[in-house]
Amino acid sequence: MAAPRTLGLLGGMSWESTLLYYRALNQGVAARRGGLASARVLIASLDFAEIAARQAAGDWDGCAEVLGDAAAGLRAAGAQALLVASNTMHKVAAPVERRGGLPFLHIADATGAALRSAGVRDAALLGTRFTMEDRSIVADRLEAGFGVRTCVPDATGRAEVHRVIYDELCRGRVEPAAVVALAAQIAALAAAGAEAVILGCTELTLAVTPSTSPLPVFDTAALHAAAGVEWLLGGPEGAR
Ligand code: GLU
Repeated sequence: MAAPRTLGLLGGMSWESTLLYYRALNQGVAARRGGLASARVLIASLDFAEIAARQAAGDWDGCAEVLGDAAAGLRAAGAQALLVASNTMHKVAAPVERRGGLPFLHIADATGAALRSAGVRDAALLGTRFTMEDRSIVADRLEAGFGVRTCVPDATGRAEVHRVIYDELCRGRVEPAAVVALAAQIAALAAAGAEAVILGCTELTLAVTPSTSPLPVFDTAALHAAAGVEWLLGGPEGAR
């Protein structure tokens, strides 16, 4: 039997979604291995107040240092690959991978593989304004690696989605008005030709579900955690 693998999880961005990852990793391993099997996972949970302040100030180098040092700590504790439980923070994937010394399981690869196997070529992308406006975070990788083109809401829509993420979902609040507003953004992108919606923020699954979404839903948090399960059970090494 191959040596067991230990996965590092960089979370707290926000902890609402880290909870979802932790549950999904354990449920995924239990479903595949049965019995009392659970995920060998080390979690570094950061203070999101600090991270969000650095994001808002454009201090991405500082973000990379904080996440890279946390990743290095996970490596020292025995982790062999890394999940960063936030789409937005994949903006600093390359420097975090260098500083932390752990191979990434990239959130866009997990998402792109699922979209490609479902035959989706045009997808709506919802997320923070960083993720929707900076194509280097996930959009370019989805297109180059998986042939998936993405479209995003207009400026007013992007501001609203961003506000809901930081002011509500990352604080554990799911307001009925936000559920309706997010569904309306998805409907507008469906009318413009999107075949599916990517929940490109790991908290969006709290407010967008297959029953409220006008389009089929691809939840990056669930897909990323599923990639973590595959890796734990002996799948391909992480790579960027
Ligand atoms: N969890 C979010 C994401 O997937 C947003 C919070 C953050 O900025 O990290 O992008």
